[in-house]
Amino acid sequence: MSAGVYLHIPFCKSRCSYCDFATDVYRNKESVERYVAAICDEIPGSVSEETNVDTIYFGGGTPSLLTPNQAEAILKTVGTCFNVHPDSEITMEMNPATVTPETLRGYRSLGVNRASFGVQTFNDRHLKLLARGHDANDARQTYKLLRAAGFENISFDLIAGLPGQTIGDWKRNLDEAVSMEPEHLSLYLLEIHEGTPLAEQVNSGRRPMPDEDLAAEMYEVMIERLDQAGYGQYEISNFAKPGFESRHNTKYWRLDPVYGFGVSAHSFDGFQRYSNERDTAEYVGRIAEFGNAEVNRETIDLASEFVFLGLRLNAGIDLASFQDRFGIDLEREHRSDLDRFHEADLVEFHDGNLRLTQKGMLFSNEVFQAFVTERSAISVATQAS
Ligand code: SF4
Repeated sequence: MSAGVYLHIPFCKSRCSYCDFATDVYRNKESVERYVAAICDEIPGSVSEETNVDTIYFGGGTPSLLTPNQAEAILKTVGTCFNVHPDSEITMEMNPATVTPETLRGYRSLGVNRASFGVQTFNDRHLKLLARGHDANDARQTYKLLRAAGFENISFDLIAGLPGQTIGDWKRNLDEAVSMEPEHLSLYLLEIHEGTPLAEQVNSGRRPMPDEDLAAEMYEVMIERLDQAGYGQYEISNFAKPGFESRHNTKYWRLDPVYGFGVSAHSFDGFQRYSNERDTAEYVGRIAEFGNAEVNRETIDLASEFVFLGLRLNAGIDLASFQDRFGIDLEREHRSDLDRFHEADLVEFHDGNLRLTQKGMLFSNEVFQAFVTERSAISVATQAS
């Protein structure tokens, strides 16, 4: 089994109103250079042996603010510390209006072969509300640049359930996204995080609360629309043309090892999860002093984590393989829960797999709670960046 490598690049042009990620506003090239040097120092110190890797993911933040030279320095370090497969999936998260034809050609020449593109919505009023710092036309133009630079695997991030967003707005978003024919789509429901400007606007009544029932309707509309357009749903929030499922994110859902580097990055080595310092200046300082910025480490209940994550996938969990790997007969151990969920049309059995139904995907937390005794924070993205 090959591992994945996650590289967190925290810088953004400005801060979006809903964001609670570990991000920093981009100040100058020098501060990014210091950060890149710190990541390049962290990687060798954290790896004890040659490990096979077949996915690399630049997440953020806005990794497309890196110059190709900065991205190259990081990839070269990954290449010397891991045994990177020549056919690796190398993804970079990119935001509209942050790239030029030259930078895109530079990334492509380094082997970046997948763009995770932060469109979020094609509605300019909503982009302003989110303080995204770009408009819909920027997204259309940047998408053309991505194609012109030779990106043949592009994923769109879209957010549903925005304050004041109607079902008609959402359908128009989906229609425009589908008409552009990206290979992959990730759709997220907006989460309001306390401490963000958007939370303050909602709490003070200046913005309406997102409507949960409407968000559920948007989810159903999305499944139908994307199915008609030939996108297969392979995870609760992810849809792809055949063969374009995200190989990197699937590692999280299959509980394969992923090594994370950079501020706030999370890692899983097959047994334990551990994570880095969340403040960028602290992270750089810790790397300079100790060569390591780990602040938290825990051993997890692998079996329950495997159920929790595996149920997010459409394929669900192969019960026989689960029993082989963990020595647990899931059907017998959770007979009463499973009967209850089956009765409520939340789970189903299909070809020896246990999986969520479409209704179960909407009420997934209810199902997960029955299986998960204790779980740690994970680095699978649950909100669009
Ligand atoms: S939502 Fe994404 S682009 Fe916006 S500030 Fe946060 S990390 Fe940056």
